[in-house]
Amino acid sequence: MDITRSRPETRRGPAENFTGLVWLDEIAAPAPPSRMRLFTVRFAPGARTAWHTHPHGQVLHVQEGEGRVQREGGAVEVIRAGDTVWIEPDEWHWHGAGPRTFMTHLAAVEAAADGTTACWGAHVDDAHRAH
Ligand code: MN
Repeated sequence: MDITRSRPETRRGPAENFTGLVWLDEIAAPAPPSRMRLFTVRFAPGARTAWHTHPHGQVLHVQEGEGRVQREGGAVEVIRAGDTVWIEPDEWHWHGAGPRTFMTHLAAVEAAADGTTACWGAHVDDAHRAH
């Protein structure tokens, strides 16, 4: 990749994997042997990922706003600018904005050997999502 580029192309988070308006900027996806993938993810109020896992875990660093994260079997947690969250490898979870706030986070993962960065499951419905 061209690491000197200053403006990544912004893509919509696909409806299969996200609810609401989500925008993804790929910040870094260097060539092997690195498997690092770094994104900025911007969630509109109420927008969130579907349930998913990451083969080698994930670091989330909230840059702006207030959001939510939930791990399987756990409570919905409030996350705010400055917070850093570690998701364990293969841990089912979702993350997104609070119901009335935007939220932007950095998301860092290590891809699996086959390039996979996430395994996707069911959408998070409004009843499940705590306010
Ligand atoms: Mn995740």
